[in-house]
Amino acid sequence: MCGIVGYIGHRNAYDILIKGLKRLEYRGYDSAGIALSENDYRVYKCKGKVSDLENQTKDKDISGRIGMGHTRWATHGEPTDNNAHTHKSMNGKFVIIHNGIIENYAKLKAGLQKEGYKFESETDTEILANLIEFYYMRNQNGTSFSPEEAVRSALKMVEGAYGLVILCEDYPDQMIAARKGSPLVIGIGKDEYFIASDATPIIEYTNSVIYLNDDDIAVIDDKGLSLKNLKNIPQKPNVHKISLELSEIEKNGFDHYMLKEIYEQPKAIRDTYRGRLNFESKFLRLGGLHNIFEDLKGAKRIIIIACGTSWHAGLVGEYLFEEFTRIPTEVEYASEFRYRKPIINKGDIVIAISQSGETADTLAAIQLAKEAGAIVMGVCNVVGASIPRETIAGVFTHAGPEIGVASTKAFTAQVTVLTMMAMSIGLANNGLTKEEFTELVNELYAIPEKIEKILDKSEKIKEISDKISNATNSLYLGRGYLFPVALEGALKLKEISYIHAEGYPAAEMKHGPIALIDEKMPVIVLATKDKSYDKIVSNIQEVKARKGVIIAIVTEGDTTIKNMADYVIEVPKSDFALAPLLTVVPLQLMSYYIAVNRGCNVDQPRNLAKSVTVE
Ligand code: GLU
Repeated sequence: MCGIVGYIGHRNAYDILIKGLKRLEYRGYDSAGIALSENDYRVYKCKGKVSDLENQTKDKDISGRIGMGHTRWATHGEPTDNNAHTHKSMNGKFVIIHNGIIENYAKLKAGLQKEGYKFESETDTEILANLIEFYYMRNQNGTSFSPEEAVRSALKMVEGAYGLVILCEDYPDQMIAARKGSPLVIGIGKDEYFIASDATPIIEYTNSVIYLNDDDIAVIDDKGLSLKNLKNIPQKPNVHKISLELSEIEKNGFDHYMLKEIYEQPKAIRDTYRGRLNFESKFLRLGGLHNIFEDLKGAKRIIIIACGTSWHAGLVGEYLFEEFTRIPTEVEYASEFRYRKPIINKGDIVIAISQSGETADTLAAIQLAKEAGAIVMGVCNVVGASIPRETIAGVFTHAGPEIGVASTKAFTAQVTVLTMMAMSIGLANNGLTKEEFTELVNELYAIPEKIEKILDKSEKIKEISDKISNATNSLYLGRGYLFPVALEGALKLKEISYIHAEGYPAAEMKHGPIALIDEKMPVIVLATKDKSYDKIVSNIQEVKARKGVIIAIVTEGDTTIKNMADYVIEVPKSDFALAPLLTVVPLQLMSYYIAVNRGCNVDQPRNLAKSVTVE
């Protein structure tokens, strides 16, 4: 899940690379490195953040109009100076940066060792640098074997995933990029090119980009850009215009990206339904489903595949689809789905959810579902990412770039998309009456304003958070639509504050977790009004009887729970099916304030990275 950035052109590469790496640091941040080329290579790298690398390069020669940089999320070998990228080949011919995993690295390493190769790091990446060099040097005698050919020969031997940028000592004016599995975007400026894992380091300079496809190898030099695949067949570069604004990826006065993104949720939801849901005419149309809509209407089964927070959104989706469309729906962790023998029938609808659109396990699960004849669609946030390209239909969440590692606005945007999908299919297959549908349109339309009301109470949420910041364990309880929210609340707390947290269906509490409750244990209960309200009130009594500290998320005006709970946070009344969109917000804010109180790095929590492009 590393971040990659490269530059070749007329400017000083260093500044572009450092700025780009900072934008990509959400992808990995255990070490950083840079290589600059101006007749020779200079490599600077170290364990730590991009700012540590900047310190290291003070007073060093940072000239060069060609260069590449890397911010790492270690998969092979600990985060150390030595394992940081860039990696040079043994004879110094090649220097490379890599995002991904070379799965057959051990075999390749053994083969290279027989040829006399020695290795300095524990990474799989260094093996690849040497494999490229091996092919290059072996074919030098009397032939004009180019670096590109050496890269192609080496990559044909590789099993696994890579996004690569490669420089060759003998061709100081050339840069090679290659992709399989891990994302790479090339930005095209005037006589200059940018390479990056996503478009954020590029948009300041150009809005023309090419998304590399799997097996693409791009060579950039004075003659421009040439694009071929692993079989040496020329590929037509498809130039896209992107509309990302720089202000969209900066903090805009917030202390952290996560807080900014929590506050952006009303806008993210409005942007997600804008142009799709018409309040006046009560009309809903999802253009990205047009070509499969008849299949959706008549579907016998829906399978949702996702990981992490997206899986929680998928769980809300299961409840929505079954209630609104009466189509049997199940939710699977992509990693489990792909490695067991799932029953997938021809015509089953598979919905893959991923913020980045690059989640490796979800991508692999998509392949499996496609091979079995399922109709596979995506719900993603990043346009041009792999999942939207691998699926025949889909609906984008228009949440805007999410930089904070803990997902917030992507979750609510995903739930918004799933709600709209379930509503439009439900209306079409008579799962919903016209009246029920109209009521849901009104309810969904009003959600952003209701979230704004919750955000206005952030001071109170902060005060409550201050009271429980020293906890070591916590429990989140919810029923029905609020059970997935309990899971998501617990995940948020774990991710950024490192407090052990568990989410449970409230009724399951008695089957185990109740044993943990004592006066030190905060129990966060999602208790807005619906048909199981009385049951959740009983659950609160049970916690109270064991002296647990109760923080209840309740519907505005609730007095019953107010008299029982230690703290209450009110959210506006809504249809119960839409309650996840509201009730998750105070939980996100609580996790944020607790993490800040504990001095944790909110945007870059330890051991985590944003876009999980390794399995
Ligand atoms: N496998 C490489 C390493 O461990 C790259 C890791 C990644 O892309 O996250 O350094």
